[in-house]
Amino acid sequence: MAYQTVSPYTNETIKKYDFSTQDDIERALSQGHTLYKKWRNGPLDKRVATLHTIAKLFREHEDELAKTAVNDMGKLLREAKGEVELCAMIADYFADHGPEMLKPTPLKTIATGDAEIVKHSTGVVFAVEPWNFPYYQIMRVFAPNFIVGNPMVLKGPSNTPGSSDAFGKIVQEAGAPEGSFTNLFLNYDQASALVADPRVQGVALTGSERGGRSIAKAAGENLKKNTMELGGTDAFIVLDDADIDQVADIAWRARLYNAGQVCTSSKRFIVADNLYDEFLTRLKEKFAAVKPGDPMDDSTTLAPMNSKRAKEKLQEQVDQAIKNGATLYYGNEPIYLDGQFFQPTILTDIRKDNPAYSEEMFGPVAQVYKVHSEQEAIDLANDANYGLGGIVFSGDPDRGAKVASQIETGMVFVNNFMSSLPELPFGGVKNSGYGREMSQLGIMAFVNEELIVKADKPDLSNPAGGLIFL
Ligand code: NAP
Repeated sequence: MAYQTVSPYTNETIKKYDFSTQDDIERALSQGHTLYKKWRNGPLDKRVATLHTIAKLFREHEDELAKTAVNDMGKLLREAKGEVELCAMIADYFADHGPEMLKPTPLKTIATGDAEIVKHSTGVVFAVEPWNFPYYQIMRVFAPNFIVGNPMVLKGPSNTPGSSDAFGKIVQEAGAPEGSFTNLFLNYDQASALVADPRVQGVALTGSERGGRSIAKAAGENLKKNTMELGGTDAFIVLDDADIDQVADIAWRARLYNAGQVCTSSKRFIVADNLYDEFLTRLKEKFAAVKPGDPMDDSTTLAPMNSKRAKEKLQEQVDQAIKNGATLYYGNEPIYLDGQFFQPTILTDIRKDNPAYSEEMFGPVAQVYKVHSEQEAIDLANDANYGLGGIVFSGDPDRGAKVASQIETGMVFVNNFMSSLPELPFGGVKNSGYGREMSQLGIMAFVNEELIVKADKPDLSNPAGGLIFL
């Protein structure tokens, strides 16, 4: 697909970008590889200072960065500003804590000598990222790897090129060395070829199952370590003792934030029978109260979807769901504005044989299920191809946590909205992918944990000092 910014609010084509050339790709890789060699044994303090400068620049340029994201993919301006601040927080976090995380880890062993794990960079990381958080997704990979010493080459999404470009300009303005971060506008063949290049030693993709399968296949064929952050059909479980006021206040936000286009949006509401009718009434009230309009305007509460194609795909999924027996409880009416708006919609009575039961709906559509026991709620949550996040509401947080630990998923929040923070690991299981980003777990994704066992001299009296255990 061509790289271009088409405003989802006005439908105007704002800017088109050329594909990167072979020379651009070669320059990115050779600069990145040279820098990796230089960084590998060098001191960290300069990178720490540069990453703090990147955080500062994100904050200083908040307004223009946020507006660029709004033009690219239509999110609400205040949500875009929140994303810019989160990027600054991630950069500061890895600048503050990364060096400590990368210190050697001593090991207890019966081998002769002192054993430790030393953490090294491995080379250029190639990141393929989506449009729904056009800065944050990039920062999740960039900040930890910058501290590790792995330069990054990015293939950003074709519909938010302005944001990818702006990210690169901030890194440059902060004085990061050439090759630290290179944004390329690649087609799919160029992306697969880049995965195969020996200078690339790590591959990180966030996106759909379809994109994930394709890049993971290229990574597998070339034996490249990779992380996959894919889609989700996250459950929002309301147990029978939940406080319905709290639930009502969070549920609509958990579905409509970012126009419902979040991998960890609550997509399946699984509600105890005693609260089911009240839940539906309250969710409908909240959905009906949103105000679609200009995403730059502070009074707007429903943003357009990111593109005409995304809206058409969601409409097709809703039509199919209804055709296959789902009840339309609320919504699915046209919104008479030029932009790519989709009315918040509630579907119920979705049976297992309905395609909607197992598909990810990436937009403002809530599926609501009624259950008659805690076990039924858990079983339904787990009857999914995905396992990314989840929310559980209960009057007893310990009961909520017990239920949470029985869900086959990567992250669960009890009695609250899901949030993404640099100190919390992010990632999933099943078709939601593998590996974790952010936190201590995320920074280790593309690190060589090299074992070094240091002895003064061989000790043949120690059985572990010889070949006996090989
Ligand atoms: P997508 O179509 O897979 O695109 C994501 C990125 O992959 C884009 O840069 C895209 O490039 C690229 N891509 C797709 N197919 C490719 C291929 N065959 N070869 C090389 N590159 C390829 O996903 P999306 O629709 O933009 O994003 C929404 C999906 O991402 C949802 O499923 C959502 O749940 C998931 N997501 C997951 C997380 C997480 O952390 N787990 C976070 C956010 C979103 P083009 O733009 O050029 O097609």
